[in-house]
Order: sequence, then structure tokens, then C-alpha cells
Amino acid sequence: MKTEVKALVVGGGAVGNGIAYHLAKAGWSDVMLLERDELTSGSTWHAAGLLPLFNMSYATSHIHDYSVKFYKSLEEETGLNAGFSVVGNLRMAQTQARMDEYMLYASTAETVGVPYEWMTPAQIKERWPLVRTEDLEGAIFHPTDGYINPADVTMAMAKGARQRGVTIERKWQVDGYDWQGDHWEVTCTKMADKGGNLVATEEQVVVKAEHVVTATGNHAQRTAKLLGIKSPAIPVEHQFIVTEPDPMLQEYRKNHGEHPVLRDADAKWYVREERGGWILGPYEKNAPACFEYGVPDSFRADLFPLDLERIEEEYMSFIHRIPSSEEVGLKDDFNGPICYTPDGNPLVGPAPGLRNMWLAEGFSFGITAAGGTGYYLAQMMVEGEAEIDMASLDPKRFGSWVTTEYAARKNEESYDHVFILHHPDEERPACRPLKTAPAYDRQKALGAQFGCVNGWERPNYFGPLDAPDSFDHDARSFRRGAWWDYAKDEAHAIREGVGLIDATAFTKHVLSGPGATQFLDWFTTNKLPRVGRINLTYALTAAGTTRTEYTIVRRGEDSYYLVSSGAWQAYDADFLRAAIADKTAEFGAMTLQDVTSQYGVFAIAGPKSRDVLGALISDANPETALSNKRFPWLSSQDIELKMCPTMAIRVAYTGELGWELHHPIEMQNYLFDQLMQAGEPHGLKLVGARAQNWLRQEKSYRAFGTELGRDATPLEAGLDRFVDLNKDFHGKAAMEAIGIRSKCVTLLVDGPADADPWGREALYAGDTKVGRLTSGGYSPAFGRSIGMGYVRPDLAEPGTKLMVKIQDKLWPVEVTVDSPYDPTNATIRKDG
Ligand SMILES: Cc1cc2nc3c(=O)[nH]c(=O)nc-3n(C[C@H](O)[C@H](O)[C@H](O)COP(=O)(O)OP(=O)(O)OC[C@H]3O[C@@H](n4cnc5c(N)ncnc54)[C@H](O)[C@@H]3O)c2cc1C
Repeated sequence: MKTEVKALVVGGGAVGNGIAYHLAKAGWSDVMLLERDELTSGSTWHAAGLLPLFNMSYATSHIHDYSVKFYKSLEEETGLNAGFSVVGNLRMAQTQARMDEYMLYASTAETVGVPYEWMTPAQIKERWPLVRTEDLEGAIFHPTDGYINPADVTMAMAKGARQRGVTIERKWQVDGYDWQGDHWEVTCTKMADKGGNLVATEEQVVVKAEHVVTATGNHAQRTAKLLGIKSPAIPVEHQFIVTEPDPMLQEYRKNHGEHPVLRDADAKWYVREERGGWILGPYEKNAPACFEYGVPDSFRADLFPLDLERIEEEYMSFIHRIPSSEEVGLKDDFNGPICYTPDGNPLVGPAPGLRNMWLAEGFSFGITAAGGTGYYLAQMMVEGEAEIDMASLDPKRFGSWVTTEYAARKNEESYDHVFILHHPDEERPACRPLKTAPAYDRQKALGAQFGCVNGWERPNYFGPLDAPDSFDHDARSFRRGAWWDYAKDEAHAIREGVGLIDATAFTKHVLSGPGATQFLDWFTTNKLPRVGRINLTYALTAAGTTRTEYTIVRRGEDSYYLVSSGAWQAYDADFLRAAIADKTAEFGAMTLQDVTSQYGVFAIAGPKSRDVLGALISDANPETALSNKRFPWLSSQDIELKMCPTMAIRVAYTGELGWELHHPIEMQNYLFDQLMQAGEPHGLKLVGARAQNWLRQEKSYRAFGTELGRDATPLEAGLDRFVDLNKDFHGKAAMEAIGIRSKCVTLLVDGPADADPWGREALYAGDTKVGRLTSGGYSPAFGRSIGMGYVRPDLAEPGTKLMVKIQDKLWPVEVTVDSPYDPTNATIRKDG
């Protein structure tokens, strides 16, 4: 066995082989893959092999799309037939809401370039008469996907990898990882078959590897423990059953082709043909998590016993949909572990806190994802960045606060939610509330309907005071949900009066020490602020795209307070820590503290916000304390609001006169009560994240995770004024080399009367697709829908007329000037 390699891939399932293949294809000749048992002996061997292109996530849609195309090419390259049956994939809808969901999904499909067709119940019946259709609304049909033999496609990738120079060793288990400063030393144990068991032998080898990728499937918890990290990848039981041949199906097949993979999402199952019979795969309620503390040694390529009772409802609905199956007996069953994560997406990318360690874990659609994961992960490893933004799959989207219990219960929920209606305003209920700021109860009593950001409860909007528990669930829609009017009133309150937003979930870091100034100057794109002032700035990836957005407050010569997106706490902290470790020798000592949970944040905004704060501020001259002269826009001061010491920052993400009030978390209820009391005469309204999201689009404020990410530079995002090209900074040369591939714009939309765009929709000029929306919503200032997105640079001029596809129809949109509401910032700068 080799003892020194460029990259070591651990795990010989579909995913590990897809990665090894693509690393070799991307040019790394010295790659080795280790498998503790036999290739495909994990979850891969018992998968049903479906390759669904349907996915609501942009990154995952790209990954699945790549896989489907790649698998079609494998036979030519390797001579191995992976049994790809391109039968298509028919997703049926029992309700209009489900059709709405498919229409929203079709937007994502369109931006990625995945083909689809619409079908009526009559068309379905005509083509596939065994399917009962009278209770269907319609269906979306993907002609290009289908199913594959999971073991065969894995073996084909393994052969392709070997042909490209990859070494594959079976019966070697990785038992230890040791970072040596520039490479990993990986301890591997030879495994042997003994009486049907797999046992460790005395033989051990240490392999030196510059990079390691773990793709260990159901063993993710053991891998995490070996690496000293936390991972939320925990499997859940998933079963499918295989029927005896169905005589009516056999008769039908004499003159017809195979049925597509059928999905009755409202009944929570998929079905495909298998040797004259059917495979039924339900996503039932109460499927339990398993292997929370690791896979027992006794579990090899094993299965759990079938639990038929658990899937009775889905079974009955299958018989309803395909009546010929009623008399057909069961031939076989599979109940195996399928890995999940709390949001249902895999963990793909750098491991938290470690160097050259890459995770590819937690795959619930690992056969579908293996090829694309290999392709994009290899880009990240070999070139430094993937061509699509992989942040939504980054392992660090889950913080170290995630526990085994949390992950297990959330993963069960992810499984149960596979076929629920995925409203874009969905909030999942399991394990909540968990992280609550002190004012949670007060806000809840005042009607707050909460969303969850990095575990924090954050008000989305304030509904009726006497709302039943189901209010928010019932308020969701693919159009304008029942929450919409509440958000609209909140948005107007900020534009016309005063509103208070709980922004406690922000990520907050304090960086200080002799090296801090030089470090931040190198790390971020903008000029550093003077003491007492603030700046908006960007940290870039080595490839020149946007890695993080910061509001930087300069607290002292060498002391900085960094505020970044609440959803990305671990992601931002990891990046900062690694960069500081790399640069301390060059710039000098620095201390970094994550103070996220030490400070609460209220954002007060609106023309009357100064009056409310003025009533609370302790100052010799409270009338002038908040004036432009004493407290200018884009500055920060330590003030006292009655008895609460507060770091006030004069910015407002809503684009209105306002302050962010960063306060000791333990005084949050006190401050909240003071603000509510002082705000009462001014009509202060509590405002949630939904209204804020609309308002920031009227100001063209880019948001991290939508407009800002690793697939665009800040110049493409139109943030030139926050990029100081006169200085050198991390990623600058790469950013300049990229040029402008597309441009971020704000668009006013003349859309449907009952719906706004969600930020996933394709943009057209005539018949040509020219871009996509990344945000969407309603503009109270213009009384129309609004969106932000990226278009071809030649179409970014204000006044350009384009079309956007919403609910399968094209609607006119117009590119606006940047910040269509108050373009001169007159209201933000207003004196008083
Ligand atoms: C019943 C069922 C049906 C499914 N149907 C589908 C489907 O239709 N379509 C689809 O896309 N997905 C499906 N899946 C999911 C799919 O099976 C998995 O997502 C996929 O197999 C995951 O592949 P993997 O390579 O990540 O993991 P695995 O296949 O589990 O491979 C991981 C490998 O790593 C090895 N390993 C672990 N630790 C070590 C170590 N320390 N050293 C060396 N080797 C190690 C293991 O032995 C194992 O072989 C289904 C799952 C189930 C349970």
C-alpha cells in the first residue's frame, strides 16, 4: 500500500468513488481511496438508485444535474454499463398548492438548465393508463432522469478512477488522523473477514496525505470523533418494498415502454418498475434515527427488519394510485440506514477548524449526488473554489452548539419532510425553541411568529395577538401568505414612523491587539474606518469572490467590533481564525473573541427613531445627542439608554434613519421595556425579518447568502464603493482577473396580483435566459413586487426592460437605479 499521497479519500461508497474519480480528472495524479470493507458495502448497495433532478436548492440542483449527465457518459469511458434507465420522472400533484410548489421549483430548474414539462391528468392517463388520475391537479415531468444501478455506477466510477491513476485499497480502515503542520498522518488498520465478521488485524500503516476527504456514510459520527469535530450527520431508517410481478403491468409492457419513476408527493412515496412489479419507497412518519453513537461492529452490509405498520398509509395510497397493485404480493424489502442532516442537505467542504481536511458526509441522495459532489469538491480542492457557490452545503453552516440529540431529532424531521410542501416561507418546528434571547417571551406575547437562524429564534413578523399555534403554518404559501399584510404594515411603519427589529442573531466578533489593524487592512476590501466610525467591507476567498460581509466598528486604534450575518457564525469564525493564524507572524499578535451571545441587538429605524432614543438617552444635552453633528451617520458611540450601557451604531439595514443598539444580553428585557415605553407615543411597531428583507431591497442592500457569495466578486455585486483598489488585500488580484461576468441589479416587477418573486426566478430578454433573481419580495414604497439578481453586464443599465418567470408565466421587470428608494440617502442622513 502507498504510504504517501497527495489526497486520501476515506470511504468506498458512491460518494467516495465520485470524489476520487474527479480529483484524478482535475489533475491530481496521486490519489488513494481506502475502504474498510468492500466497495459499495455501506448504504450504497441497498439504494433504490433513483436520480431525482428535482431540488429546491440551487447548489444541489447543479450537483444532481451534473451527476445525471456524467453517469450517461461513464460507459463509454469505462466499458461498464451502470444500468441507467432514462425513464423520466413524473411528480404528480394532488392540489393546486403542490402545483405552485412545482412551478417555484421549475424556476430553479430553469436557472440551472434542467429540462421539464407540464402534464395534465388527462395526458398522464393517456400515456400511463394504470395510474389513477381523477384526483390529480397535474404533474411535472423530467424526461432526462430515471434510475441507475447504485453498485454498478459506483464500480464504473471506481474503474474510471483507477484508469486515471487512483489507487483503491479495500479492507483498510482509517483509525486516526494527525495533522503535522503541512500534511496529515493517517493511521490505517488492515481489516479481515472472520466468521462473517469484519475484524481489525494487528497490521497498521501510517499514510502521509497532503489532503484528506472523508466520505464515510453511516460512520460519520465515528469520523467526527476521530477528527475532534462535531457533525450533525446521523442516519435515519429508510425502507422500500418490492412487489411480485403485477400481471396488468406485464400486459401493458407488451406494447409500451417502462413507466417513469412516479412520485406522489402528497402521498409521500416514490414508485418505479422492477422486473414486472413495483418498488415502493415511502417517506413515512416516525422513521427513527440510528447509529447516533456510531455503527456497531456487528453491522456490516446489513439491513433492519421491515416495519410494515409504519408505512401502511403510504402503501394504501400506492394501491389507490395504481389499483392493479392491490392483488400483488410482496417479494422483497429493504430497510437500511440513510444519512441525513438537520436541513436535509449534505456536508460538503472544509471541515471546521482543520486544514486540508474535507468532508463529504450526510448524503440522503448520495447516488444522485455522488458525481456532482466529486466534480465540485474537486474544483474546491484543486482550484481553491468551485464554479458554483457551495456555501449552502458547507459543514460550518451548523455551529458547534449542535448536539447529538438535536441532530437526531432534526434529521428525523428532515426525513419526514422530504415530501411536505416546501414553502419558501417554511419554518421547521422540531427542537424549537432552543436558542432564545431574553426578549423572546415578551415578543411572543406581542404576536411574534419566529423563524430560526443558526438556532436562534428571530421574529419573522408579528401576527395577531390571539393567534392559534397553527397560525404560521397555515399562513404559508407559494404566493402571498396570510403573514403578508402584517409584514406590509411593519414595512410601512419603518418608512413612515418607527419600528423595532430584534437583530440579536447577528454574528459578532471582537478583534484586538497590535496586529489587528494591519491584518484587517489585508483581510478586507474597504479602507478601515477611523476610530469611532464604521465601514461596510468584504473579505474575499483566495479566488477573489465574496467570502463574508462585515460591518466593522473601530472601537480603538487596534480594537475592532465585527458584525456579520447571523446565519453564518461558525463559517465566519472559522475563516477569521485560520486567516489570523496564518498572518500573526507577519502582522503581530491579535486576540479574536466570538461575542455573539454576549450582546443582544435591537435595530430601531424610521423617521421617528431619533425621538424615541432621545427620550431615553442620558446626556447633558439630550436634544442634540443624536444630531448629525454629535452622532453622524456611519459612526458609533457608547451611550446610556436609561440604565442600559449601549454601543449604538448609526446604520439601518432598512435604509431609514436608525441605530443598531448592541447591548449586554442580560439587560435586554430592561432595554426592550424602555424602548417600548418610549416608543408608544410615537406609534413604535415591532418589525420582523420579512419586512426588513423587503425594505433592504428597496435600498439595493445586498444580502449575504443571496446576492453575496462565493460565485461573484464584490465588483460583480456592484459594491465598487466598498472596494479600495489603491490598497492590496486578500483575493484582490484574483478578483481583478475575473472581470465582470454578470452584474447585480435591482428590479421592479409587474408580477401577479397575488404573488411576489421569492428570489429563485429566471430572467429573460425575449426568449433568451439572461440571469436569475437571488432575492424577491414586495416594495411598500413602490407598491409593486421587487427583486434583486444577476444579469448579463450589458443588461444592467437602469431602464432595461426584461421579463421574469413567476408561476410559469413571464412578467415584465425593469432594472432600476441602485437604491431606487431614497437614492441620495437623504432620509438616513436626516438631521434632527
Ligand atoms: C433504502 C434506501 C434507499 C435509497 N435510495 C436512494 C435512491 O434511490 N437514490 C439516491 O440517490 N440515494 C438513495 N439512498 C441513499 C444512498 O444510499 C446514500 O445516500 C449513498 O449510498 C451514500 O453514499 P456514501 O458513499 O456517502 O456512503 P456509503 O455508501 O455508506 O459509503 C461509505 C463507505 O465508507 C466506508 N467507511 C466508513 N468509515 C471508514 C473508515 N474509517 N475507513 C475506511 N472506510 C470507511 C464504509 O465502509 C462505506 O463503504 C437510499 C438509501 C436507503 C437506505
